[in-house]
Amino acid sequence: MSQTESPVRSGSVVEFTGVMKEFAGHRALAGLDLTLHAGELVALLGPSGCGKTTALRVLAGLESTDDGTILINGTDISTLPTSKRDMGMVFQSYSLFPHLSAGENVEFGLRMRKVNAAERRRRALDALHLVGLDGHYDRYAHQLSGGQQQRVALARALVTEPRVLLLDEPLSALDAKVRVQLREEIRRIQTELGITTLFVTHDQDEALAIADRVAVMRAGVIEQIGTPEELYARPSSPFVADFVGLSNHVAGIVRGGVVEVYGIALPLVDPSHPDGPVRVYLRPEDIELASEGIAGIVIATSFLGSLRRTSVRLEDDTVLFVQHSVLLNPLLGERVHLRLTGAPVTVEVLEYV
Ligand code: ATP
Repeated sequence: MSQTESPVRSGSVVEFTGVMKEFAGHRALAGLDLTLHAGELVALLGPSGCGKTTALRVLAGLESTDDGTILINGTDISTLPTSKRDMGMVFQSYSLFPHLSAGENVEFGLRMRKVNAAERRRRALDALHLVGLDGHYDRYAHQLSGGQQQRVALARALVTEPRVLLLDEPLSALDAKVRVQLREEIRRIQTELGITTLFVTHDQDEALAIADRVAVMRAGVIEQIGTPEELYARPSSPFVADFVGLSNHVAGIVRGGVVEVYGIALPLVDPSHPDGPVRVYLRPEDIELASEGIAGIVIATSFLGSLRRTSVRLEDDTVLFVQHSVLLNPLLGERVHLRLTGAPVTVEVLEYV
């Protein structure tokens, strides 16, 4: 991987179709369908236990599948051993060999492939350069920060020029600032190399920030896949609306293609939605503090740097979050008014028993 050579290789297409995986009767993957386009970074996002890591592990060959197929560039790899799948992997915990230097760690996969010493060193130095660690070849894990160790792990994953890069919560153990820096670096490198990448995370900010597309997973299947913007603005279900971004829930009534909330008619994503009572999902930035409108009392307000988020309790006890300029600083207990400025991202039919 010389700096003068072109990137790893053009990205591969990965296709999961109907992939099933059970652990002692528990279904971790329940017919997973997911396609990663060539050179694309897909973030697999979802709550704990939804099957994200299992999806990554069956792709890597670290777990077998019970049913379904996994294709890379059209070839079924479901039965190939991990060593033949040609994947680079980075995990959450720093997994460097402590008795090897950073450079030797990076060279490890090349040594397994019987690449000669001079070539190994050259490629390891290139890979360390790629991850911003020039001059760190001789350092041992205990002489590197957590972020640097993950950079070495990334260099080690990339040095063999894999077809696919698999990242399983690679930033979770790092502090907030390093996390953001390193995720931007990962994105830069991934784009530069054009390598198809599956990035597992439970952190929605991370997923939205880094991915070409985000796949929201629930109970072993993909609930929705789309660009970060699509997921945020057009969640296909209340689950996605709640999992991606912050949502307010208010009672409403659908009538004739619009939804009425506190006497205000708002447009529906699906104007053919049947009439009746619904729970309405509104983003905090679609509500504003106003001189008149829905009355309520401020019960909390937090300064978030570039904006302020205020919670307002309405007369019917509903609490709404509002995002607004830091120049407005409502006081606890103050009576304020709210105006609804945007459309709901989704509505959910209320089931009465
Ligand atoms: P987390 O974010 O907590 O890591 P996840 O979405 O990655 O969660 P998985 O690790 O894929 O979830 O696990 C999915 C389900 O399968 C969970 O209920 C988990 O307990 C179960 N599971 C995973 N691996 C095994 C295993 N080796 N043996 C038994 N059950 C397992």
